[in-house]
Amino acid sequence: MEKTSETTAEYRPFLEYSKEELAALLKSWGLPGYRVGQIRRWVFARKTDRFSEMSDLSKELRTKLAEAFVAPRQDGGNGEAAKKAASLPILIENGVEKTLSSAEIGGTVETGKVAETGKAAADGETSSVAAAPVGFDSVFEGRLVAKSVSDDGSEKLLIEWRDGARVECVLLRDDRGHRSACVSVQVGCAMKCAFCASGLGGFSRNLTKSEILEELLRLNALLPKEERLTHIVVMGTGEPTLNLDALLPALAEATASDGLDLGNRKVTISTVGIPAGIRRLAAENVPYKLAVSLHAPNDRIRDEIMPQNRIHPIAEVLSAADVFFKTTGRRVTFEYILLDGINAGLEHAAELARLLRNKTAIVNVIPYNPAPELPFKTPSTQTTRRFVDALEDAGIQVKIRFRKGDKINAACGQLRWSLRDR
Ligand code: SF4
Repeated sequence: MEKTSETTAEYRPFLEYSKEELAALLKSWGLPGYRVGQIRRWVFARKTDRFSEMSDLSKELRTKLAEAFVAPRQDGGNGEAAKKAASLPILIENGVEKTLSSAEIGGTVETGKVAETGKAAADGETSSVAAAPVGFDSVFEGRLVAKSVSDDGSEKLLIEWRDGARVECVLLRDDRGHRSACVSVQVGCAMKCAFCASGLGGFSRNLTKSEILEELLRLNALLPKEERLTHIVVMGTGEPTLNLDALLPALAEATASDGLDLGNRKVTISTVGIPAGIRRLAAENVPYKLAVSLHAPNDRIRDEIMPQNRIHPIAEVLSAADVFFKTTGRRVTFEYILLDGINAGLEHAAELARLLRNKTAIVNVIPYNPAPELPFKTPSTQTTRRFVDALEDAGIQVKIRFRKGDKINAACGQLRWSLRDR
């Protein structure tokens, strides 16, 4: 399909469209409103991203949709984006890499059609926006760069957006039947938590609603036909409360009955603790759970490992969390990554218990997930146990979240970091 600069300028990703906007678009094409329900059913319930597979739509409509939503890729005019667009993703299984064929990855990435047009664009490209066709016949705008699989059932995807920016998202499986999507909300992160690989490359930009939704749909599509996502945790790269304008509409689609149909209480937003963001969530009375990353029992340690604390110290964060609880009636979870020799001692447990005394809260203790680029260590099982016991003895409700996906570089930012030159 030929692509002009005019159509490129008009491009708006399919997943940016609300139900009402899609209805208006179809109406402008002279089509009835019920088509919206058909299309959304394919995308959200039947897990296809391909317009050509929407077999209850007419062939003309499928073609029209495919043409209307080709995702142009942006590059510096040298065709680099188009060349990359035509490459197939990498599978990393038990640390061993191979290139996936489009058949192996299913319908969620580029096909022969894409590769063919990608080559044409790469050969003759001169415009500033490459006509690379990754998004041809797809509701998606991103390109799958790599999929990493762990033997505990976790799968991590590395997705590249049209501007070349990359993010990670993870599918976590557990034996209770939970199928959780952990999504990113920003490219890189400005918060610079010392124990996190995401901040290593700095912050680039916020993700859009469509990009966040695409992470969810791609993870949902990894599951077999009879399964679907049961939970969403917004705990990937980036600070969610700094991108609520994109995140909340994406979550609204995830929880809509004609969307991914997840229960509101199955969604958890995890924040580093930006008081204004927490207060906005309270003011909008969002129906989701809130997790606050505390990770230290005092400002001295928190200043060191979470520089954001120098702007908003613990007292401010806890005060905003109190507002959230009072307004919504929903208990806040405090996340606490245990870093050996830093915040995992009995004195830290006692200090944390004093901090949270009289609060309706739960502490999620997470033994650190080691990243080769970072100097921190995971505490021993004995240290972890002692810490948890001390909190419980002080009357604090505690959960231990054991690490999943160690073998797939599951800590946020690690896969993106390890494949940064590919
Ligand atoms: S832990 Fe979260 S907030 Fe902190 S740097 Fe990593 S992604 Fe950003």
